[in-house]
Amino acid sequence: MLSSVLEKSTCKNCRFCCEFEKADEWETPIINEHLANLLKQKGVKVKKQNNNYTFDLEFKENEVKKCPFLSENGCGLDDENKPFDCKIWPLRIMKKQDKIYLTLAKTCPAFEKDDKRIIDLSLNLFETIKLYAKNNKGAIKEYSPDYKIIKEMEL
Ligand code: SF4
Ligand code: SF4
Repeated sequence: MLSSVLEKSTCKNCRFCCEFEKADEWETPIINEHLANLLKQKGVKVKKQNNNYTFDLEFKENEVKKCPFLSENGCGLDDENKPFDCKIWPLRIMKKQDKIYLTLAKTCPAFEKDDKRIIDLSLNLFETIKLYAKNNKGAIKEYSPDYKIIKEMEL
C-alpha cells in the first residue's frame, strides 16, 4: 500500500520493523487464523490477542528476534497474505485516552527527514485504514510517544 513512497530496497537493507526486542513486543503484527495455523505447524508459538493472533517470540533476555516470516530476501509473505499492520507500517492506528488516531512511527528511517510524501499518502489511504480499524478494533494499539499523530479517526 505504501510502495509509491517506500522502495523495497530501502526495507531490504533496514528490516527494523521486522525485528523485535522484548520492550517492543507489543509491536508484533496482528495475524489472521490462517497465518497463525501456518506458524503453529512450523512450531512457532502463537498467542491470541483479542479476536486475532500474533506470534510469541518467547523473549528470555534482551535479545533481538526476527519475525518468523522474515526471510533472506525480506518479508516471506506476498501482498495478499501480509498482515494489514505490515501493509501500512510505518503508519499505525492508535488509541490515546478515548480517541483513535492515525499515527506515523518516528523510528522508520525512510521518512526521518522528509515525511510529506507519507503524510499525503496516509491521508489518501485514511478511509481504507479507518474501515480496517472499524472492523478490527482489537488491532488498535495504545499510543506510544514514538509515533507522531497525523489525524483523529472517528470510528
Ligand atoms: S522501518 Fe521503515 S524503512 Fe525500515 S524496513 Fe520498516 S518500513 Fe522499511
Ligand atoms: S510479516 Fe513480513 S513485513 Fe510483517 S513483520 Fe513479519 S517479515 Fe516484516
